Amino acid sequence: DVTPLEIQQAIRNVPDFPQPGIQFKDITPLLGDARLFAGSIDLLTEGFTPGQVDTVVGIDARGFIFAAAAAYRLRAGFVPVRKKGKLPYLTHEQTYQLEYGTNTIAIHVDAIRPGARVLLMDDLLATGGTAAAAAELVRKLGGQILQIAFLIELSHLQGRARLAGYPIRSIVVY
Ligand code: 5GP
Repeated sequence: DVTPLEIQQAIRNVPDFPQPGIQFKDITPLLGDARLFAGSIDLLTEGFTPGQVDTVVGIDARGFIFAAAAAYRLRAGFVPVRKKGKLPYLTHEQTYQLEYGTNTIAIHVDAIRPGARVLLMDDLLATGGTAAAAAELVRKLGGQILQIAFLIELSHLQGRARLAGYPIRSIVVY
């Protein structure tokens, strides 16, 4: 089985991307490794079996990669939360604070049935603003969040504090 350490070793640190001073966690070496990609999906969905989850929600854009594979494994539906302006049909929107400015994400109004059992997924938890806004969209549609799962957590940014009340899983913690 794949270990979190192996996954960590496949994550590349890219200095000064997309801006000077930022160390970007590049997951593409992990995605390109057949065994490690499959293992990361196994770890993200550990404890859940087909029939226990109705919908896996993935966050634009790298969250889609993990959420779609997880949805297939769990025989659940996949729902995208996208940046504002990308979804074609009627949407609910949620705006949240960034370090400088704000960001808005959206979900289709009929994407989740009330009472649906939902896993929310993204590649990386930093401040938690994105995931908290996505969780609010799921809640607005009446979805019941069983877990929020991340491949990577940057723990010094205390994103977990913004997700209080939700079970959180992260595979690699920095
Ligand atoms: P937050 O809202 O928690 O501050 O930021 C999390 C979002 O930013 C995630 O959607 C994630 O994809 C993106 N993100 C921020 N920094 C990085 C990074 O270093 N690597 C990757 N892969 N994603 C990042």
